[in-house]
Amino acid sequence: MIRFEQVSKVYADGTTAVDGLSFDVAEGELVTLVGPSGCGKTTTMMMVNRLIEPTSGRILVNGEDVATLDPVRLRRKIGYVIQQVGLFPHRTVLDNTATVPALIGWKKARARERAAELLDLVGLDPKTHGRRYPAQLSGGQRQRVGVARALAADPPVLLMDEPFGAVDPVVRERLQNEFLNLQATVRKTVLLVTHDIEEAVRMGDRIAVYGQGRIEQFDTPAAVLGSPATPYVAEFVGADRGLKRLAVTAIEPEDLEQPPVARLEESASAASARLRPGRARWAVVLGGEGDLHGWVAADALARAGEKDTVGDLARRMEAWVPVGAPLKQAFSEMLQHDAGWVAVLDGTRFLGVLTPAKLHEALRRSVDADAQGVGRDEVEFDSVADA
Ligand code: ADP
Ligand code: MG
Repeated sequence: MIRFEQVSKVYADGTTAVDGLSFDVAEGELVTLVGPSGCGKTTTMMMVNRLIEPTSGRILVNGEDVATLDPVRLRRKIGYVIQQVGLFPHRTVLDNTATVPALIGWKKARARERAAELLDLVGLDPKTHGRRYPAQLSGGQRQRVGVARALAADPPVLLMDEPFGAVDPVVRERLQNEFLNLQATVRKTVLLVTHDIEEAVRMGDRIAVYGQGRIEQFDTPAAVLGSPATPYVAEFVGADRGLKRLAVTAIEPEDLEQPPVARLEESASAASARLRPGRARWAVVLGGEGDLHGWVAADALARAGEKDTVGDLARRMEAWVPVGAPLKQAFSEMLQHDAGWVAVLDGTRFLGVLTPAKLHEALRRSVDADAQGVGRDEVEFDSVADA
């Protein structure tokens, strides 16, 4: 969808901002450009919508060389979100959001209707927030208006330059998540610039790590964190990249341990006998469809009355995550519920539990898999201490 072919930019004063850049962004993909200040990220982005012209090389959008397109019309097909937001102070939020549709000749009523839809989509109430002026909004709300405005004319491509940079970390994380949810439905082709490796990793399908005017590594977040291509990248992603990697490594069924199981309907004494008292301290409680009902302590089963079923003694399972969720989510569930394990579910179906040891193992395995260039299940691995 977006293709850079040997693109360089040398400014009039001789500064080489971008040096022979080649990469692709696929349709519907979100690529983050990450690197320290001054490494050429903004220059890269502004060459796509021709706010800056390259010195050499070509940029194609949807197969067309942007140098051959009328810049004004090009920009209407490319949403642009910047940190300073750049809202018109004397126009209402609704009119700000309707800017591009109005520019491309939509009737006023239709443009406003669309703007209201978009404000709603980014979590602002068109009726109240829509009537305000930008100065009457918080920083986070202004950023949302910036995103809504960029999406208003439904452009296939979105350029975002440090879009969440101007807000505090809590609001930033919320905006990031909201944008990811939005992106899951609108599936734009997105180039997002950030100097923050956490943001790059959280947001990007793939990330391009910039050195001075060049890409040092272009790969998935997990691969960049797991096997940095150069010492520069290793330093940039930080010594805690193993932790960051938790956020981008998905839980897979092979990672799980199979604890003892008790059935909801069976008698407590039957379950207790099977658990061999003194061995297992607890069992997960499953319904007939393999659906998770909770857990039961072995000593509760042992003490149970004759008529008690497992279901009578089962307790709610607080700590659980869906399969495919990042390991970090499982880890944070464990911490939050002070649990030694979390249940992993596929819908309501119980798949197994993740223990700290298994979590560590999964993380190690995925790092090694990237380093060896093989699938996670093919990696030789000596298990860490048993849980
Ligand atoms: P980033 O967005 O990664 O911080 P920029 O693309 O803004 O980096 O800048 C890359 C380099 O080009 C920097 O050294 C910057 O000082 C320089 N630069 C940016 N704009 C201009 C300009 N108009 N004239 C000269 N140098 C510029
Ligand atoms: Mg910049």
